[in-house]
Amino acid sequence: MSDEVSFSAMVKAELALLTPELPCCQRMELAGLVRALGRLELQGRGRVALTLSTDSAPVSRKAIRLLKRVSAVEYKVMVMRRRKLRKNLVYRIHIPPQPAAMELLQLAGFIDAAGQPTEWAERPELAHDHCRRAYLRGAFLGSGWVAGPEKQHHLEISTSATEAADALGQMLFSFGISARMAARRESLILYVKEADQIIRFLGQIGAHHALLRYEEVRVVKEMKNRVNRQVNAEVANMVKQVDAAARQVEAIERLKAAGALERVSPPLQELAALRLAHPHASLKELGELCRPPVSKSGAAHRMRQLMALAESLG
Ligand SMILES: [Zn+2]
Repeated sequence: MSDEVSFSAMVKAELALLTPELPCCQRMELAGLVRALGRLELQGRGRVALTLSTDSAPVSRKAIRLLKRVSAVEYKVMVMRRRKLRKNLVYRIHIPPQPAAMELLQLAGFIDAAGQPTEWAERPELAHDHCRRAYLRGAFLGSGWVAGPEKQHHLEISTSATEAADALGQMLFSFGISARMAARRESLILYVKEADQIIRFLGQIGAHHALLRYEEVRVVKEMKNRVNRQVNAEVANMVKQVDAAARQVEAIERLKAAGALERVSPPLQELAALRLAHPHASLKELGELCRPPVSKSGAAHRMRQLMALAESLG
């Protein structure tokens, strides 16, 4: 199991233990969860079965707990092994056609008030912050994923319908989280890649332990990055300086060998002698050694003249 899976699983395990106090929030959390996990099965003559599938045991337990509290549906729970080589289990909650199931489908926005299939049915509860938080928690539990804080920052919630994705995006935005949207196979993904936004989301949906862990790792990671950037910049500068000095030494040696050095002005002769004597010094340091001292740009100007002269030797 990779770290990312375990961080995401850790967030879900924490969230699965929370149960909202307000009945409205319990309903909205179940709505978000059912919308994310649910698949409809039309059985003819208006009969609709609903199956909730998840590979997370805590999430399936939470779905059952909320179903018991909020809904009167009869359901069957199955645990299955994924096909082929996959080792993980899938937990299925099967809700056969029944009157109470229609209420649940309506709650989750699969059908509208008239019983017609819909991509999204706005719920009045979602006008409340508490209910939007609960809905987002349900949606994340059902179809969310977050990378571990030591990885590249990434949090996403997937959904199947454009209208549902828009509604989720607006809910996130109401908490100051600007999610971007992307299509992946048959799904639409809402995702955020900024650590601040991920932390804000974890806070809004009540994943406080996960949030602290995220913060902790992020601070250490950013400190390391800052130090690395600084060290890299210093090393790059040093390499540049050493390269330039080596080219200057080489140019001055050529001027000397060609007898051209005796014909240049005394200040240039002085700088050439200083460079040969101090091959590792910076131009600023060479300028300070000149008599009288010259500035870094003064020394650079003289050095450019020497380099141009060496160049002209061919
Ligand atoms: Zn509420």
